[in-house]
Amino acid sequence: MITVTQPLLPPLQEFFPYLEDIWNRKWITNNGFYHTELEKALCEYLKVPYISLFTNGTIPLMIALQKLRITGEVITTPFSFVATTHAIWWNGLTPVFVDVEEETGNLDPTKIEDAITKQTTAIMPVHVYGNPCNTEKIQSIADKYGLKVIYDAAHAFGVEKNGISILNAGDMSTLSFHATKTYNTIEGGAIVCQNKETKKQIDYMKNFGFEGESEVSIPGINGKMDEIRSAYGILNLNYIDEAIGKRKIVVEQYRKELRNIPGIRYMQDLDEVKYNYSYFPIFVNKVKLGTGRDILYEKLKDYGIFSRRYFYPLISSFSPYRNLVSASENNLPIATKLASEVICLPTHHGLEEKEVDMIIDIILKEKK
Ligand SMILES: *Cc1c(COP(=O)(O)O)cnc(C)c1O
Repeated sequence: MITVTQPLLPPLQEFFPYLEDIWNRKWITNNGFYHTELEKALCEYLKVPYISLFTNGTIPLMIALQKLRITGEVITTPFSFVATTHAIWWNGLTPVFVDVEEETGNLDPTKIEDAITKQTTAIMPVHVYGNPCNTEKIQSIADKYGLKVIYDAAHAFGVEKNGISILNAGDMSTLSFHATKTYNTIEGGAIVCQNKETKKQIDYMKNFGFEGESEVSIPGINGKMDEIRSAYGILNLNYIDEAIGKRKIVVEQYRKELRNIPGIRYMQDLDEVKYNYSYFPIFVNKVKLGTGRDILYEKLKDYGIFSRRYFYPLISSFSPYRNLVSASENNLPIATKLASEVICLPTHHGLEEKEVDMIIDIILKEKK
């Protein structure tokens, strides 16, 4: 069986001393030693000024919106994991879906302005598959209309453009360290922000709003990361570059073998971007390939290869959101097309060359 991803697990033997140390310290959560260490290590690795750790990648989205006191409508992408829109809804806000670019799968900046109303106060784009959004264009629109920008950067761990982390774009960026992501702390996440005062407030917010022992200054929530997962995260940082390197080899093999196949498209790398190779989506054109996306997806399953159709269905077609005016397929033609064509092929650090060959062979057999 080959799954779309495999968690990056640090060597167990190396983890035991950390556990022992945590047991000796008898401090297992609430801003402990390893929590502080991981924040420092991640700031350095990711080249960002401030980071706050969280228990998962969804609470950061919710807190970022809270911290910026976002009201009314938030412009967002339907082509993402459902948590992006859920976080907007949980803040009592209205998501407004805008279509995406075919080349990147990201929010199309040329379509944002038409969706802005008097109620719009923020934009929440996603760097889908780790492809950087057009952050310059998005920022210029945000500046023109006085909007905040919160990037859901769950796929963009370590992604840089011209040597600068894309996590520094916008007002805040959020990360997920879920087991299925390139870098994981089992469950976990973070907010990246640009100043010390904001980080301080975010840290209060993830601990019920406590500012010191006897003062609650903000209506907070519990979003804290514990010591065990922090230590696991520190250890995993030692292996992340190697894992990304292996993913890159897998992606290059796919690209080489699937090149020039009518009916199969994949996304291209830009020279100025350092990617993390989180996902390898291919887009299947049924007419040109002779086989539809879902048939290919099932065929791969028959061989024990579990690819995933990220992101199908679109968030906008799930029942809580499908009645929004912006959720109509007419408003989202490109996202609808991508969702109907996409298959994310297995890509992870443990995948072997011959396994990738086998996956490619199955795809090639479907070519008419
Ligand atoms: C994984 C993911 C999340 C949610 O992260 P969790 O850590 O699972 O809560 C949010 N947005 C996107 C785009 C994701 O892929």
